[in-house]
Amino acid sequence: SQTHEQPSHAVKGVPEVDAVVVGAGFSGLYLLHRLRGLGLRVQVFEKGDGVGGTWFWNRYPGARVDVKSMDYSFSFDSELEQEWEWTEKYPPQEELLRYVNHVADRFDLRRDIKFNTRVTEAVFDEDVERWHVRTDQGDQLSTRYVVMATGCLSASKVPEVPGLDLFRGRWFHTGHWPKEGVDFSGQRVAVVGTGSSGVQSIPLIAEQAVELTVFQRTPNFVVPAHNHPIDPDHQRSVKAEYDRHRQANRESGFGIAVPPATKGAFEATEEERQALWERAWYDRDNSLVTFLTGFTDMITSKEANDTAAQYVRDRIAEIVEDPETAAALQPHDHPFGTKRPCLGTNYYETYNLPHVRLVNVRKTPIVEITHHGLRTTQEDFEFDDLVFATGFDAMTGALTAIDIRGRGDVALKDKWHAGPRTYLGIQVAGFPNLFTITGPGSPSVLSNMMVSIEQHVEWVTDAIAAMEAEGLATMEPTVEAEDAWTAHVDEVGHMTLYPTADSWYMGSNVPGKPRVFMPYIGGVGPYRQKCDEVAANGYEGFVRR
Ligand code: FAD
Repeated sequence: SQTHEQPSHAVKGVPEVDAVVVGAGFSGLYLLHRLRGLGLRVQVFEKGDGVGGTWFWNRYPGARVDVKSMDYSFSFDSELEQEWEWTEKYPPQEELLRYVNHVADRFDLRRDIKFNTRVTEAVFDEDVERWHVRTDQGDQLSTRYVVMATGCLSASKVPEVPGLDLFRGRWFHTGHWPKEGVDFSGQRVAVVGTGSSGVQSIPLIAEQAVELTVFQRTPNFVVPAHNHPIDPDHQRSVKAEYDRHRQANRESGFGIAVPPATKGAFEATEEERQALWERAWYDRDNSLVTFLTGFTDMITSKEANDTAAQYVRDRIAEIVEDPETAAALQPHDHPFGTKRPCLGTNYYETYNLPHVRLVNVRKTPIVEITHHGLRTTQEDFEFDDLVFATGFDAMTGALTAIDIRGRGDVALKDKWHAGPRTYLGIQVAGFPNLFTITGPGSPSVLSNMMVSIEQHVEWVTDAIAAMEAEGLATMEPTVEAEDAWTAHVDEVGHMTLYPTADSWYMGSNVPGKPRVFMPYIGGVGPYRQKCDEVAANGYEGFVRR
């Protein structure tokens, strides 16, 4: 592999590489593969003791992806995509973890990954134009490039309720589930949180537990997953034209190609609207996407959106027998889709079981955790196990957890004190040669993330290849480009209903986090086009020296 001239004033005794990649989920693995392809010396650091990121950590009962396996997989290697056989429409965590491990083995990636190692610090040394990276294991490395593949949903959040240290039972967070699994048989269990992880795990925990109490702050819209084994003929037919299929995903709005809506909700008759929502609810293939894209104005018009929201609320009232529970499960405080909508299997049905109870902590907040359970403003609860399905400090949490300092010793978390600022979600002004994969300001969590991950990894590694070819030392956005992009992300976000919800997209689940709509809703296809144009125009908006 090609070697690089060592700067004469490099820090003595500190080993040097060309690129440090933080994280060994899908993003980090693909980065390593591509950067190696450029002949660079790469060091990956991963906190966990294996590859897989999200699918390494989230081993809770029912954990599975909500995007179809044929779409939620790598497309960069045609042999890989042809040889891997998926078994289910929405594969469970175990299958995804097997897939990630297969990718790591197939491309011989492990030898450049240091596991059980958390990156704690990355400081840019302006004199030598290199990053100085440190880990919790005492590693120190000097590198030209740092790529953060730290994940948008990897910094798990346990709510700040007093008393957790007093609790005598077992407690878990869904995002840090024990490898050996948890047996809830015969246990009285409490689950706090009813987002995607809660919705997936609650029905399965209810099957084991003798008593299950679910503490809900905000009800979410849950539509049926209709998961099923993949029909082998279907798998063959997609694989036969995989290139076309993938290309359509890349050009789509959410990274999943669906026929575009042709009219607004009120250009349709009441019967047509009902028929569409009915079809979406029972659609074995695309229920969620049909809900999100059924009419052109679903995410821009509250009235249009309400027609879908009301349809789902009606289904909840139909399924859930106890009227008070049904009412508590019906979302009224946010439009459909503006918080991550959930796919469920027997979710609402679970509340009809005699040993399952829903507690609305919006009405009766949790006051404290006790030795034997927890106390709300109204009642004392006793249980053996406590499960937090309370999500993540999304999009920025894993980045601001690292002490990242750019030019002038400015800390990234200080620069972002009023919300993240990026150019294209890829780079930050004042932080040369530091790249973020699916960073804030890119479509990221509003998309089929495999499509967004591949696009970012390819764009970033192409940008690095161009720098290498041109013999450039640094690349970073101008403040003007960053300001304009950040304003654009905000403006496009505010053309939709998304900012009206208190969601993790808005940072609302983390006390004190600025309320900013972090992902870019302009669409995966148009965003890719913009990134390609920027590159074609000599990396417009970036200073390259
Ligand atoms: P991750 O998989 O999060 O990997 C990041 C890695 O970085 C982690 O292994 C972490 O340990 C490591 N890391 C972080 N900080 C450090 C540090 N300082 N030092 C060392 N290592 C560090 N996406 C979809 O598109 N569709 C879905 O249906 C979907 N479902 C999801 C369900 C759950 C429960 C969760 C949590 C996420 C889901 N996602 C889904 C999003 C998912 O995160 C992405 O699809 C994808 O797996 C992200 O890959 P990644 O490599 O970018 O990040």
